[in-house]
Amino acid sequence: MSLPVIDPEVRFACGTCTACCDQPWRTLIELDKIPAIEQHDFSAYPQLRDKEYFTPATDHPERYAVLAKGEGTRCLFLDRDGLCIIHKELGAAAKPHMCRQFPYLPVRWNDQWQVSANYGCPSVQERRGPELTSQAEDISRLLPVLSSAAPATSVPLGASIRVSIPVVAALQERILQLWSNDSADSIWTIFAQWLALLLNVGRFSQQQPDSEAELFEKLTQETTWLDYSSFGEMRPYTRQMEIAFPVRMLFAANLYSDTVPAEALASISFWQRLTMVPRLMSLARLQGAYASHMLNQLIQVERVWRDPTELNLSPAAVSLYKRYFRSRIRQGYGLGRGLSLAAALHQHILDYNALHFFARVLAQSAERPDDDHIWRRALTLVEFHLANQHRLYEKTMKKWFYGQLNNIFNIWGSLRMFSPAGKTVSV
Ligand code: SF4
Repeated sequence: MSLPVIDPEVRFACGTCTACCDQPWRTLIELDKIPAIEQHDFSAYPQLRDKEYFTPATDHPERYAVLAKGEGTRCLFLDRDGLCIIHKELGAAAKPHMCRQFPYLPVRWNDQWQVSANYGCPSVQERRGPELTSQAEDISRLLPVLSSAAPATSVPLGASIRVSIPVVAALQERILQLWSNDSADSIWTIFAQWLALLLNVGRFSQQQPDSEAELFEKLTQETTWLDYSSFGEMRPYTRQMEIAFPVRMLFAANLYSDTVPAEALASISFWQRLTMVPRLMSLARLQGAYASHMLNQLIQVERVWRDPTELNLSPAAVSLYKRYFRSRIRQGYGLGRGLSLAAALHQHILDYNALHFFARVLAQSAERPDDDHIWRRALTLVEFHLANQHRLYEKTMKKWFYGQLNNIFNIWGSLRMFSPAGKTVSV
C-alpha cells in the first residue's frame, strides 16, 4: 500500500486545547478495547466513580460502544488537566480509533487515497506544527488500510453528463487557481465562476463530445468560461418566498444536525423522520426559532438570515477560508461521497452558507462582530458537525435531495441566499 496523497498546505501538532474532546458528537470505541478499560483501576479519578463508561452503539452493536459523557458535552475521560485519562493510564493505543485519528481526514476518491485534516481543529486552522507531508509515515500507520477499488474512467458532472477523469483533474487545477490567495475576487465570486466553469464544460461536452483536446484548452485557459452573468445579478434576496423552495429545503437539511441531539443522528427511524418535519419546515421557511444543539441557544432564524450586524470577512478570515476550500477541493471535492461535480460544488456553497449563518449568530451576541475568532469558531462548528458528518439527505429522501443538489438554478439560488448586498460584483 503506497503512502496517501497528503494536502501540502496543512500543518498540525496537537495543542491539547480539548476542543475535540468536548463536543456533542458520539465517540465510538471498538469493543476489543473495552476489557482493558473496564479492568483498570481508575480510583485516582473521583469523577469516574460509579459511572457507566460505555453505552451500546445501537447502529453498530457488533463493533462499537459509545464512550460516556461527563459534564455537559465533555468526554467522561477528559481529565481536569485537559488530558485524556485513558491515554495517561493505558497509553495511546488504548484510546478509541476516532480519537487517535483526529484531526487527520482520510478520503478516498477513485483509486487515490488522500489525507487532509479537519479544519475544526484550532491547530489546523492556525497551521501550528510540522507539515502533514512530513508526518506521512505516522499517518499511514494510524489510518486503516483502505482496500483498492477499480478506478473509474468518468464521473458525473451533473444529473446527465459524464466527464473523463483527466477532465476532472484539469478542472480541479483550474478551480484551485480560482481559490488562489493571489485572486482578488470575493469568495462569492469564486463560487459563481466555478459554477459558470462547470456549466461551460457540460455544454461543450454535450455539443462536441469528440473534441476533448479542445475542451482541455478551453477549460484551462478560456476566461469567458468564468463569466457567470447569464445567471443574472448576484444579490441577496429580500423576502423568504423569493427563494425557491428546494433551495430553502437544502439549506434546512444541511443544518438539520443542529436541531437534534447528536445521538439521534446515528440512525433515523421512521418516527424521527416524522418529528423532524416541523423543524425542517421552520428552517426552510426562514422563520420562527429552533433550539441549537451546537450553540446551546435559541436561534431566531429570520433575524439571523436578515443579519443586522453587517458582518464582514476580515483578510485573515478570507485567507483561512480560501485555504479551507482548497483543502476540500484537493480531497476530491465531494466526489468521494458519490456526488456529481455540480452537487459537490453545491454542497460547498451550502457549507459556506452555514459558516455565514453561524458567524451571524455568534456576531449578534458579540462585542466585536468582525472578530476573526467568530469566523474560526464558525468553521469549527461546520467542520465538527456538518461537513464531516453524514448529511440528512444521505439517509432520507435521497433521490429528491440529490436531484435538487444537481440543479444549476438551485446552486445559483443557494449562492445568493447569504451573499452580501453591494459587496459582490454586479454583472
Ligand atoms: S482540537 Fe486539535 S489541538 Fe485541540 S485537542 Fe483536538 S487535536 Fe488537539
